[in-house]
Amino acid sequence: MSQAFIPFTRPYVTPREEEYLLDSLRSGILQGDGPMTKAATRVLLEVSGAERALLTTSCTHALEMSAMLLDLGPGDEVLVPSFTFSSTAGAVAIRGATPVFVDIDPLTLNLDVQAAEAAVTDRTRAVFVVHYGGIGADIPALLALADRHGLAVVEDNAHGLGARRGGYTLGTVGAMATQSFHSTKNVQCGEGGALLVNDASFFERAEVLREKGTDRSRFLRGQVDKYTWNDVGSSYLPSDLLCAVLLSQLESFDLVQRLRHEIWDAYQQSLGGWASANGARLMHVPDDAQHPAHVFYLIMATHEDQTALLTHLRERAITGTFHYVPLDSSPAGRRFGRTPSPCDVTADLSARLVRLPLYAGMTQADVDRVLDAVTAYVARTPVAAG
Ligand SMILES: *Cc1c(COP(=O)(O)O)cnc(C)c1O
Repeated sequence: MSQAFIPFTRPYVTPREEEYLLDSLRSGILQGDGPMTKAATRVLLEVSGAERALLTTSCTHALEMSAMLLDLGPGDEVLVPSFTFSSTAGAVAIRGATPVFVDIDPLTLNLDVQAAEAAVTDRTRAVFVVHYGGIGADIPALLALADRHGLAVVEDNAHGLGARRGGYTLGTVGAMATQSFHSTKNVQCGEGGALLVNDASFFERAEVLREKGTDRSRFLRGQVDKYTWNDVGSSYLPSDLLCAVLLSQLESFDLVQRLRHEIWDAYQQSLGGWASANGARLMHVPDDAQHPAHVFYLIMATHEDQTALLTHLRERAITGTFHYVPLDSSPAGRRFGRTPSPCDVTADLSARLVRLPLYAGMTQADVDRVLDAVTAYVARTPVAAG
């Protein structure tokens, strides 16, 4: 008998989302900035540790807002890791500014701060950092770099809501940070995001950009008696319906984290012996990092092993996957970006990385099936002794 496919990810249904969604539908207030938006924002502030947050239609849009708030434009350069989702660089390119691709650290797969420093020019305005897998980048080094060169720091924290590194909470470090509530993320509402505004001087303008360049937010609070068009901007405000789902998701943050960690821990504890026997390595979590179990990945010995393990899993009805295709060599990366030094680590690791299924609600039986399948895989390339 053939077994049901284990998906790579699946959105977890939290206890109150149906109830809140019905409440929202019946309230008649479906547009943005209604009661669900306000309630979800309050819980997001608690979960994220940020002082100011604006819910948005996506993380991509929050990144675009960041680029607008920094007034990035033609001639400006922004340092971004090559190993990230297209939106991190796309938000820079859409303003006509140049994403400058920087290689990653081989242990954490986060921006290599030394390589970033070498890529600074007198046009560099900002650094957009990604905390891959919610494992924090080297924050003290990053802040020192930004300080030396007068750069704004934007954290693409799509993976790292509520995670910590050293004394820092991810998403509260940069002038601003972005979150994703896409259905593949730990906390989700189908499509959604947030801009965390840590530097208060950006907040008032951020509200205007999100509301099509108008002061509607101030109008709704009774601070102005009519609202007018004051700036550029777009429609970055999510419907209250989506925020109803998000509210329940955020209220269940601890539960979701616990469920994900149980699976992550099972993988990490069970696969060490198999990995060393097969030339693979497990994720490196620095001692001072508390991560959100957003991804579990293996670095295989070779690209051939990446492909072969993915096939091996598929034959056992399990969906594993690689991750980002390097942006510096992508068609848009070549067209809009600049790559001062080859991103060799990005190219190497993206060709060897395999992510395993990981989602809240995954059954123990499915976790066991994944573990059995992985440990039944034998590396194509013999592992050198010693
Ligand atoms: C998912 C993701 C995004 C995009 O998020 P959306 O909410 O889908 O726009 C951006 N950056 C990173 C690192 C992501 O993982």
